Amino acid sequence: MAFFDKIAAAAKSAKESANTTLEIGKLKLKIKNENDNIEQFKTQIGDLLWAQYLEGTVTDPQVIALCESITAANTNIEALEAQIEAIKAPAEAPVEEVEEPAPILERHCPQCGAVVPEEAKFCNNCGAQL
Ligand SMILES: [Zn+2]
Repeated sequence: MAFFDKIAAAAKSAKESANTTLEIGKLKLKIKNENDNIEQFKTQIGDLLWAQYLEGTVTDPQVIALCESITAANTNIEALEAQIEAIKAPAEAPVEEVEEPAPILERHCPQCGAVVPEEAKFCNNCGAQL
């Protein structure tokens, strides 16, 4: 029976191994979630410092330098967006032609001038035959 015992033991071991792999995977996912949380908290810290910089209450020179880098980057973005607009402008100009909608022709009563439906035989306003 030793042979079958070995098979049973191997099967049990494989099952345990699979469970272990699954358990490790779950734990690694939890670690990843915590790392994601840390990144979010860092971003929030950055937002707080940026708000304080805009209020003029930041004194740490390193924070001020980083905030000035953000300001410089924003200036660069504005210049780059202006370049995009300059490139797009000539191509888009002809597209701006707006077709005016065709005027809706209204039928008027020859007697009183009231607007009457196209298929009406008599004026709704004065009763004149049309
Ligand atoms: Zn009429």
